[in-house]
Amino acid sequence: MAAGDLREGRIVVVGASLAGLRAAETLREEGFTGSLTVVGDEPHAPYDRPPLSKQVLLGQATADTTELPVRRDPDADWRLGTAATGLDPLEKRVLLADGESLPYDRLLITTGTRARPWPNPAEGALDGVFTLRTREDAAGLAERLDAGPRRVLVIGAGFTGSEIASACRERGLDVTVAERGPAPLVGALGGTLSKLAAVMQRNHGVDLRCGVTVTALRGNGGFTGADLSDGTRVDADVCVVALGAVRNVEWLADSGLAAGPRGIACDAGCRAFNMYGIVTDDVFVAGDVSRFPHPLFGYQMLSLEHWGNAVEQAEVAAHNMINPGPRQRPHLTIPTFWSTQFGLNIKSVGVPTFSDHVVIAQGSLEARRLAMVYGYQGRVTAAVTVDMAKSLDYYRHLIETAAPFPPPPGALDRALAADVPIPSDVPDPKGLSHGPTVALTGYLPDRRLTVLRPTS
Ligand SMILES: Cc1cc2nc3c(=O)[nH]c(=O)nc-3n(C[C@H](O)[C@H](O)[C@H](O)COP(=O)(O)OP(=O)(O)OC[C@H]3O[C@@H](n4cnc5c(N)ncnc54)[C@H](O)[C@@H]3O)c2cc1C
Repeated sequence: MAAGDLREGRIVVVGASLAGLRAAETLREEGFTGSLTVVGDEPHAPYDRPPLSKQVLLGQATADTTELPVRRDPDADWRLGTAATGLDPLEKRVLLADGESLPYDRLLITTGTRARPWPNPAEGALDGVFTLRTREDAAGLAERLDAGPRRVLVIGAGFTGSEIASACRERGLDVTVAERGPAPLVGALGGTLSKLAAVMQRNHGVDLRCGVTVTALRGNGGFTGADLSDGTRVDADVCVVALGAVRNVEWLADSGLAAGPRGIACDAGCRAFNMYGIVTDDVFVAGDVSRFPHPLFGYQMLSLEHWGNAVEQAEVAAHNMINPGPRQRPHLTIPTFWSTQFGLNIKSVGVPTFSDHVVIAQGSLEARRLAMVYGYQGRVTAAVTVDMAKSLDYYRHLIETAAPFPPPPGALDRALAADVPIPSDVPDPKGLSHGPTVALTGYLPDRRLTVLRPTS
């Protein structure tokens, strides 16, 4: 297809959130003049999720004020409140819940994730039990917190669960956090920083219970408490289930795409793979629903639940959708993530779980201000700063250039000698309550994540 033709035709984007909006804007910015349709099952214009567990729960903003700023009008036909239910890649049509089917020349999938529900639906339906992913979730939970519950139980101490617990304490509410793993954030940051996270939670008055699972939610209509695996019971009137996310891929079950529980596999140019591992040239993927290979992390498939990745990948996907092969760009972002909780500003660059050792390169655990560098087989693969965000760019450069690990003592500010590296102590995610926000999945020949169906 000639370069000019790619700027015309019909593009459909499924998923009207951060990645979908940024892709739609980029398509127009880069000269796409054809018809653009954005399908989203939520009834709202695209909105921002990070404030939902921060400003909204703290009462500093309401959930309906989190709309994403629009950089330029994407001049799109917005099909909001309508779910895509199927994809026919031969006819090149997206099937919608209202019975309509949308033809496309190129398709972008940005259907992201949803909150993993409590496994027992009857218990999960008790009044006062929440998950947190959408505007409605945040508005409902904030309202309950406003009403001053006696105690809030948070199940899962990943980033979302920990931020919710932090917001509760800032509001002066009693909160219990239950986590199956040994400490909060351990799946994302490894052993050393998770110990600091545990100290911070307890210092801020959180009743932190690690190494336990919640075995049952109790209540008769309304939630009243939960049973824990150690035989104790927590009395509470609000429960937040923060068990991680589930990829929104079910609607692709019969599509023949490589879509499974870890997301939709695509190449570094955001082009989706079909279930035989053949790359498609008209279906693209971006954001939390994607998994893509990254040369800096052993070419393993990387699944991220990161705001910055959704934006950057959407921009690359949009660019590649309207440019011929030689002009296409790879999505080689270095993952970044931030979180604010218990008065700490935590920032991460790279993939901390892709590590065997860590070293404190600046600051100290005692000062609660530090930069921790992660290494894998003698090279730098990640860094996490606590209240030291300015250093992050320096560490990003070390990751990009595969610099040797450990970095030389005082490499950045000469203020402090680097410690002796210690094991990074990243546990198997299976032992945690919450799902990981970063997952690396190498090629596992004994497992197939898609169901093969014969085509007729
Ligand atoms: C509470 C919370 C706090 C967060 N905090 C941070 C943070 O501090 N830092 C950070 O880096 N990241 C954070 N994140 C993650 C960040 O918000 C996500 O990475 C980002 O939203 C991903 O954007 P996306 O467009 O890929 O997917 P999503 O935002 O998940 O959007 C996907 C959209 O597609 C829709 N959809 C799904 N299936 C269909 C279908 N079949 N048909 C039509 N539409 C469909 C969904 O309803 C949704 O609207 C946070 C997320 C949450 C929930």
